[in-house]
Amino acid sequence: VRPLPFEPRRVPLSATLAVNEAIARKRREGVRVLPLGFGEAGIPIHPALARELGAAAGRGGYGPVAGSAALRGAAAGYWSRRGLPTDPSAVVAGPGSKPLLYALLAALGGDVVVPSPSWVSYAAQASLAGAEPIRVATPPGEGGVPSPALLADAVVRARARGRDVRAVVVTLPDNPTGTIASEDAVRRLCAVAREQDLVIISDEIYRDLVHDPARTAPSPARHAPERTVVTTALSKSLAAGGWRLGVARLPDGPFGRALRDSVLGVASEIWSSAPAPMQHAAAYAFAEPPELVERVDRSRRLHAAVAAAVADRFTAAGARVPRPEGAFYVYPDFGPLRDALADNHGVRTADDLTGLLLERYGVGVLPGSSFGDAPSALRMRVAPSLLYGETDEQRLTALASPA
Ligand code: PLP
Repeated sequence: VRPLPFEPRRVPLSATLAVNEAIARKRREGVRVLPLGFGEAGIPIHPALARELGAAAGRGGYGPVAGSAALRGAAAGYWSRRGLPTDPSAVVAGPGSKPLLYALLAALGGDVVVPSPSWVSYAAQASLAGAEPIRVATPPGEGGVPSPALLADAVVRARARGRDVRAVVVTLPDNPTGTIASEDAVRRLCAVAREQDLVIISDEIYRDLVHDPARTAPSPARHAPERTVVTTALSKSLAAGGWRLGVARLPDGPFGRALRDSVLGVASEIWSSAPAPMQHAAAYAFAEPPELVERVDRSRRLHAAVAAAVADRFTAAGARVPRPEGAFYVYPDFGPLRDALADNHGVRTADDLTGLLLERYGVGVLPGSSFGDAPSALRMRVAPSLLYGETDEQRLTALASPA
């Protein structure tokens, strides 16, 4: 048979999923591995949520592209309770927020500014959608938001070389740094977005995991509602990532409606409609019944306690660690230990260190390079098993009385 005269387009596996595969390989070899690479909550699904899913198992039909009326209404209520009045018609559901973010980039049809560092998939999705990801560094200690002082200049320079920059992505609270940008930084970012005619895509999947109960993460949708898209999902706060269910909130007004129509067009060609049983369970979750509110709150306290403890340990060991404020990550920078690591372990970069941790110590983490960042930073998920036991039962007990 004649070999094909071309290679498939090279699309590498997303870094977070690649580390999962490496860990699975080690486990098949019989090695015990602590999986701190993939971004997953260390708590089980709430039984009431599982019951809702089970109750809808018989729903086998396709649904509306935008999602069921029940889910869109519940998500609108979720946002309205958080100070973002939302009409159900502005909500689009999808199989996870990741595909929704891709649909948004495809629907926007232009280049996009992404923070450096930022979640692995923004830049990769932009490239897949034929757009250029333009990296802009975040202000020190305020991950998730491209520095407002650098943003305008980066956009002007990209446009001067013919790029059609249309959007900027922010993550509030942030992954990978676990920090939260200040209200002031978000307000200034919104002002630049207005001046430069940019849409803001605000990924707020960690919104309910702000460690300090007295604090809420800012949202650009409050300062620039006419141009901000917000996304969230069940994946993190309710530990239902495998259920693949996310929602997006499109802006009001003619532009928002046109963007929503384009997102629906993309969705209709890719996933048709989000899985019906998941939508039913998600409508229950976004209505925020007391048992789920309580579970999210325990999860928040649990991850806050573990993140603080882990950050303290790394700081004591000499790493530079941004103080974790939300989500479930710590992001130690081993720059100050570079010489010691090189002398003792032959390790020069976070990529080397990631390899060493997996091969020698059975710990799976991700290097800063996966997030377009510093060659000496690592991201690790804070696993409640580090402090609260290995099994779901042990963690549930701990959830009842977190440290
Ligand atoms: N956004 C951020 C910042 C994330 O960390 C993740 C998951 O890792 C996602 C989006 C995607 O979540 P999902 O597709 O499960 O909704």
